[in-house]
Amino acid sequence: MAKKTASAKKSTSSAQSPGPAKATEGPEVKLAEYRKKRDFSRTQEPAGGGVRASHKLAFVIQKHAASHLHYDLRLELDGVMKSWAVPKGPSLDPSVKRLAMQVEDHPIEYNSFEGTIPKGEYGGGTVMLWDRGTYSYGGANPDPLEGLRGGHKKGDFKFVLNGKRLQGSWVLVRTRSDSSGKPQWLLIKHKDEYAVPDSNVTTEHTTSVATGRSMEEIAGGQSRVWHSNRAEKHETGDKEKPDSAPDRQSRKSGQSAYERLMARRSR
Ligand code: MN
Repeated sequence: MAKKTASAKKSTSSAQSPGPAKATEGPEVKLAEYRKKRDFSRTQEPAGGGVRASHKLAFVIQKHAASHLHYDLRLELDGVMKSWAVPKGPSLDPSVKRLAMQVEDHPIEYNSFEGTIPKGEYGGGTVMLWDRGTYSYGGANPDPLEGLRGGHKKGDFKFVLNGKRLQGSWVLVRTRSDSSGKPQWLLIKHKDEYAVPDSNVTTEHTTSVATGRSMEEIAGGQSRVWHSNRAEKHETGDKEKPDSAPDRQSRKSGQSAYERLMARRSR
């Protein structure tokens, strides 16, 4: 006598479509500033957008003899290379903080660029591939990609390098913006088996990690043509930056520069 009833209602909720990726977040948008600064009919640098991100995150450091010599640190995130200009380059000494000025996102193709940018063009000068490899997240978030995004947003970007010349755990800590509004960060080596007190890694390695060439050889044998009319002004410009000296307080206390920085922050 009991009637069979259809007890289980089939819910046929239509699957919500995720919608198109936000136009404000793609590499095309992120690379707009990079492209605006360059005339690709004059420079051999890539315009970008042609390479799909692989599952492994890439990093590269390019030594760049522009008006000021510096090292460009680039870390892949969400389809572009997040980029910092580091005047003094990296140090393996955990007591040393290196100023790192964030610059515009670069295309992933830039990772294989070595050569000269014509004088008068943006960033004109010689570019050497100084180190390259892959990197991974170095923080505690169980989702590495979320950890990297969050760290970048927060200004406490922890990463582990797997390069030819640089390995191990590092951090970029955002401190403030300069007068032009560009974010300033500090690049610091964490204490680990790859840390080297009093490291001079940038003077130990002065040739291309890709081709073995010196800056002069990359420039085509013409020594220092890239800053001919600016030589006097810039020759000594980078010598005594405050970030060049090891953190004496760190030495005394046995804390790394990063630990001291974080302790000050939380006070
Ligand atoms: Mn540069």
